[in-house]
Amino acid sequence: MTERTLAIIKPDAVRKKVIGRIIQRIEDEGFEILGLKMVHLTREEARKFYYVHKDKPFYESLTDFMSSGPSVVLLLERENAIKHWREVMGATDPAQARPGTLRRQFGFSIERNAVHGSDSPQTAEYEIAFFFG
Ligand code: UDP
Ligand code: MG
Repeated sequence: MTERTLAIIKPDAVRKKVIGRIIQRIEDEGFEILGLKMVHLTREEARKFYYVHKDKPFYESLTDFMSSGPSVVLLLERENAIKHWREVMGATDPAQARPGTLRRQFGFSIERNAVHGSDSPQTAEYEIAFFFG
């Protein structure tokens, strides 16, 4: 089933100058890029985007990090886009992520893990509307 997902190249990866390599991987994996933009989230926007994690101990640090510099947000389409993009990203903690995944390749820590991906159709719908209205 063709579906859509929301991907983010996080501020750590933008600072590291690996936007191009991550977009190359997205194209190599067969995704259509339907939307792409650079955004510097405000702290309030980051808090809204990650609201589902508001009670987690990492919420404040995560939302500070996500508003610390520009990100690149992408609207992606593919067969099984949500699951496939999460496989390409790898586990949340780069140290646990399999070789060949983007987080293993470019992530720095469990927080600064280079990329984001929606985790369900409902989340994808919310996240796509958040950035691409
Ligand atoms: N995160 C963190 N500490 C943790 C778990 C997560 O800083 O212990 C951050 C990390 O940047 C992660 C984001 O919070 O990507 C959202 O967490 P989630 O559990 O949804 O992981 P994901 O879906 O991104 O793999
Ligand atoms: Mg998640």
